[in-house]
This record gives sequence, structure tokens and C-alpha cells, in this order.
Amino acid sequence: MTTGTYLPVLNEVEKASIRERQPLPERYLGLPDDEMAARIAAARATLGDRLVILGHHYQRDEVIRFADYTGDSFKLSREVAKHPDAEYIVFCGVHFMAESADVLALPHQKVILPDLAAGCSMADMAPADELAICWSELEQMGMASRTVPVTYINSAAAIKSFVGEQGGTVCTSSNAAAVLAWGWEQKEKILFLPDQHLGRNTAYFRMGVPLDRMVVWDPKQPFGGLTREQVEAARLILWKGHCSVHVRFSAKQIALVRQQHPGVRVIVHPEVPFEVVEAADDSGSTEYILSQVRAGAPGSVWAVGTEVHLVHRLADEVAPHGITVLSLDALGCLCSTMFRVSPNHLLWVLEGLVDGQVYNQVAVPEHQIRWGRVALDRMLAIH
Ligand code: SF4
Repeated sequence: MTTGTYLPVLNEVEKASIRERQPLPERYLGLPDDEMAARIAAARATLGDRLVILGHHYQRDEVIRFADYTGDSFKLSREVAKHPDAEYIVFCGVHFMAESADVLALPHQKVILPDLAAGCSMADMAPADELAICWSELEQMGMASRTVPVTYINSAAAIKSFVGEQGGTVCTSSNAAAVLAWGWEQKEKILFLPDQHLGRNTAYFRMGVPLDRMVVWDPKQPFGGLTREQVEAARLILWKGHCSVHVRFSAKQIALVRQQHPGVRVIVHPEVPFEVVEAADDSGSTEYILSQVRAGAPGSVWAVGTEVHLVHRLADEVAPHGITVLSLDALGCLCSTMFRVSPNHLLWVLEGLVDGQVYNQVAVPEHQIRWGRVALDRMLAIH
């Protein structure tokens, strides 16, 4: 399965964010770690309950240690609703996560992404204008009225808003099967974006949908590069997108780790390619991976196929219980965009808030908030 060359395509909100991005001032460069830790602690103490810091599982150690809550993007977005008194939500993650938090936030709450250049390669592969063209081409093929759009939560607010307006919904890596089942109750076809791998792996491995009932829609080609007959035969139309971190895992790595560690249990995230899930023992969301490994027997050895910061922290956490955790990729797959958020950025935005300055706020336009909420609420009603 080829992944092609990744060229980021930004939607309008992301372009505006980059234009409005306030870069880290020079005085925040080269600070000693202990000084930064002391100043971050002082700023947090001053801001008190007016501040909540959220840290994604893939965030680097030097930042996540300051988070009030850690989790995957959906779990963290829900933390926003649990803190109505917090005026500032500092999201140490990537752009689409901060947007989701802003969609779910109350009007008086401000969501801050410490570096607005922290994007997501997968979300960037589904810009709103390409989705609008895709939908109009499906209309011309006579397919749009028979199709419900579903987007993975790893997508821009503009995409969530579009699917909300078109009767569709959002899914996470934990509830993707339930959401696909819901989708097929609504219409005969699902347009699933932006991650072809999550869509294919869920439909095939969890739901038994044959591969010949799925097609890949290439937004760079007229009509997705597909004939009317191909779309007619499909139950699942997969957007040609992927995560540049998770496509680095391979079945070859699994064969190697099995050779080196007989009896190893291999668990991967469903954003990895099809043949990797096929070769693994199990797959699931980051929260699922954490729960499975934590419940492992003393003496068990696990090879984990997801972002390396989570894998290393998990390895440290379970080592005292006699459980060994290895990264499936010996070099470690790093989410380089999330890595843009540094403790220096965190310190700068917090000291800004103490001084009454809001740097790098993510503010989703009103129209997108309205329909994005509709899409997210539909997801929450699906069990
Ligand atoms: S790991 Fe992949 S999907 Fe997740 S934020 Fe990084 S680039 Fe995006």
C-alpha cells in the first residue's frame, strides 16, 4: 500500500491561524529547565481555577508533566465541559484538537494552542474546499443523496461543520465501528474522511465488510479518480488521507519483533496500514492500548505501534510490574507537529495570561461551531 508524498494543504481557518500566529519571543529561548518549571508553576498558581492545561498522549515529556489532564483528543475535549469556570484552556496538542475544544467550550472560554504551527498531517489532507468539490461530484454522479459523510475527529472544524450540515457525524478511534453501523442505518453509503486506514481497518476487521465494497476517493483527481460503477458498487468511500506517523509501521517490523521476542504481544493503533493490523495481535485507540498493556501479566512483553512518547511513558509506568513494552518501530515514530509545542511556548502563553495578554488563541467561526456541535452531539447519541 503506497502512501505518496505528503504536501500539507491548509484550510482557511488554518491559514488564518498561521497568519495570526505569534512567534515565541527571543527572551523565551534558551531558558534552563528548572527556571522554566519554577516560572510555569508560579503562573499556574496565579491563574488558579481560571486555567486548565490539557496534554495529549503524544505530547513530549517536558510539556505533558505540566498538564492537569492527559488523554486522547476526544477525552480532552470533554474535560472542557467539566470546567465551566476555567477562562483559559491551554491545549498542548495540535490545531484540530484545540478547534474541537473551542467548539465544545462555553462562550466566555478561550482556547489557546501554544504554537499555532502545531498542525496535523492527516487533518491537513482534507481541506474544506476539496470536500465541497467531492460532494458536488457525488451529487453529479447521483450518489450524494445516498451517502452519509462521517469524519474522524482528527479533522478541521470546517470538515466537522460540513458533515454536521449534511446529516453526518464524527467518530473517534474508540467508537468508529458503532458510528459506521449508525451511518449504514441512515444511508446505503458512507463517505469516510480523512483517514482511509481507520475506515478500512474498522470496516473490515471489526465489521466484516469485504474490501471489494470499499473504494478510495483521491481528492486530487476528477471524481476521485473513480468511475460511476465503482462508486455504485461501494458501501464505503474512503478519503485518500493518512497519518504520517502511523503509516511508518510495517508488517516487516512485526515479523522482526516476533523473531527477536518470541511470545511478544503486538498491539497497534488502527491508523496503521491494513497489513499491519492483519499481522498484529490486537488493535485499538490509545486509551485501549493503555488499558490492555496495564492489564498485562507480569513477565509479558508488548510491542506497541503508536506514537513514541506514549510508548516510552507506558514502558516506564508498567516496568515496576514486570511488564516490558517496546516500540514496534525501533527508531520510534514521532509526531513532529505536536513536538512544536515546547515548555518555552507553554511558559510564554501562561505568563501572557498573567499579564492579561492572550497569545495564539484558536477561535472557530460561529457557523462552524453551530454545525460542528451538531455533528459531535450526533456522535454522543450513538452507543
Ligand atoms: S499522530 Fe498523526 S493523526 Fe495524530 S496528531 Fe500527529 S500527525 Fe495527526
